[in-house]
Amino acid sequence: MRVLLAEDDALLGDGIRAGLKLADYAVDWVRDGEMAHLALQDNVYDACVLDLGLPRRDGLSVLKALRERGNALPVLILTARDTSMDKIAGLDSGADDYLTKPFDLAELQARLRALLRRTQAASSPTLSHGGVVLDPASKQVTAHGLPVQLSAREYALLHDLLRHRNQTRSRAQLEESLYAWGEETGSNTVEVYVHHLRKKLGTDFIRTVRGFGYKLGDTEE
Ligand code: CA
Repeated sequence: MRVLLAEDDALLGDGIRAGLKLADYAVDWVRDGEMAHLALQDNVYDACVLDLGLPRRDGLSVLKALRERGNALPVLILTARDTSMDKIAGLDSGADDYLTKPFDLAELQARLRALLRRTQAASSPTLSHGGVVLDPASKQVTAHGLPVQLSAREYALLHDLLRHRNQTRSRAQLEESLYAWGEETGSNTVEVYVHHLRKKLGTDFIRTVRGFGYKLGDTEE
């Protein structure tokens, strides 16, 4: 799960990022509204935690622009302004949920989980290919009806490949889905996780496209 965090308060942002990382989210943290706007245009996220009071561009304006582009990304807004007008404006602009500062990190995590469950149950039916079934709502994976245990990164890689099942995915695209910006990734990181997935799901499940990347193997479905 990849989350964009837009928060200009260094201490709070650092705390939220650390908390979300512990909960296995890949977090991109930006500190102003313009950066948030650009990041939302250039990247695919599973959710956004958006402070309303941001420098350079207000959070509400970022949210409105996102919705005007037809993007239904789940957005949880943070507001220091404990007035019902701010909450109403946020919800009217397309926010899915809100938290008023100060808040408990555990509550943020719980609300984000609930948000992702709701949107995934509604918008992401199970993905399947060659006898492998991935359920985004429960994060369960089965192969020919039997449960398969995957690490968070193996799951992220499989999820990416299944979501683009008819395309070849470059190593860079797959790395993007594995990591947030700024994290060191080894040059053979993707290969390592592909190797793990092949061991668990079958050698032919993921095909190497020489010089480009990977795609799911052909099946008779
Ligand atoms: Ca702020």
